[in-house]
Amino acid sequence: MAYKSVKGTKDLLPQDTLAWLHVEQVIREVMELYRYAEIRTPMFEETAVFSRGIGEETDVVGKEMYTFIDKGGSSLTLRPEMTASVIRSFIQHSMGEQSSLNKLYYIGPMFRQERPQAGRFRQFHQFGFECIGQQGPECDAEIIAIAADIYARLGISYSLKLNSVGDPQCRPLYREALQKFLLGVYDALSPESQRRTETNPMRVLDSKDERDREATADAPVIIDYLSDEARRHFERTCGLLDDLGIPYVLDPRLVRGLDYYTMTAFEFISTDLGSQDALGGGGRYDGLVEQLGGKHTPAVGFAAGIERLLMVMEKNEYAFPASAPRVYLVGMDDASRAWAFRTAISLRRQGISTEIDYAGRSLKAQMREANKLACPYVAIVGESEMAASQAQVKEMRKGTQESVEFARLAEYFVQDTAQ
Ligand code: AMP
Repeated sequence: MAYKSVKGTKDLLPQDTLAWLHVEQVIREVMELYRYAEIRTPMFEETAVFSRGIGEETDVVGKEMYTFIDKGGSSLTLRPEMTASVIRSFIQHSMGEQSSLNKLYYIGPMFRQERPQAGRFRQFHQFGFECIGQQGPECDAEIIAIAADIYARLGISYSLKLNSVGDPQCRPLYREALQKFLLGVYDALSPESQRRTETNPMRVLDSKDERDREATADAPVIIDYLSDEARRHFERTCGLLDDLGIPYVLDPRLVRGLDYYTMTAFEFISTDLGSQDALGGGGRYDGLVEQLGGKHTPAVGFAAGIERLLMVMEKNEYAFPASAPRVYLVGMDDASRAWAFRTAISLRRQGISTEIDYAGRSLKAQMREANKLACPYVAIVGESEMAASQAQVKEMRKGTQESVEFARLAEYFVQDTAQ
């Protein structure tokens, strides 16, 4: 019986990893420019990190987590997202005491037991960044600017939805008003939203169910309930985005799926994706550090799916960098094949990526292989070349050929003559 990868998971084959590495490199370059440092936390945590951090009533915690009891009887969960893990680590290592601002980023796999479909996997990958320690709207605007820069570098167009979900002062008032409204249209709501009317009424606004959309068309919006402070923060964030020339659309229904957001909430959407159109999103989460047992610490962050980003790039026929060896060494008999093997290792040690034949193939077959690999140089050595300590070097693009002494080969290949 042949085994297959588990439903909702994918192998990344060599032709895929090139694109992935490119995307990751662009993310790292941008993070370096904005002075964010990488954090890597374990793939699993105590379940409470997520259930307390993300919120019991969310889909992620309620339905999608890979939770298991280990042999020691502890309840552990494969991380469904990384903000809660980052904050757990931030608290554990007293990072807030060492610096008043911690700018952290991550790239890695996340796990959610969702129904697999296009753009939705059970092991998927996110990159994200968190700016922890400051309250100012500059942090919110910067987080959005970073995401916009990464998407721009990868040739991805998007629309940015922005909202404020208020702060602990104004949210209870809004929650009450919304709940009252929802009770008034209760019979028209989906069963899920009826339940949420009690437990988490704001999530009803983000339901994709048509019945809910219609029933809540005239629901009160949080923007009308913002406290002075939340309003000021929101207006200044919008003003900073205007200054930066980053277009956005105000979406009063945007509440996002996770409970920890306060004030700014935003989402990047792509029209090049199907029904799973969210590229990434984030917001401010000033209460999370406290909720996970730390001192009150304001923070804002963003997380995005890498698979979805690559889906858009592939659709756009993005020119991913190709990988080819710089040189292919062709040997024709025992002595020259041994030379090719020795020399390949020597060239690689000098930083020149080199390929050879391992299968004792003919000159013609080796040339065909070199062509297929699109390497700029091929060095051919037979009996007479061995005698003269010279290789016949072909520059594949130009079709030219010249003799190059063995001792000069490395120097010859590093010169940037072949494109
Ligand atoms: P969230 O943490 O739910 O806000 O998700 C952030 C981003 O991660 C989304 O906008 C998607 O791009 C991506 N994402 C979330 N869940 C999945 C999934 N099951 N499969 C693929 N990508 C996902």
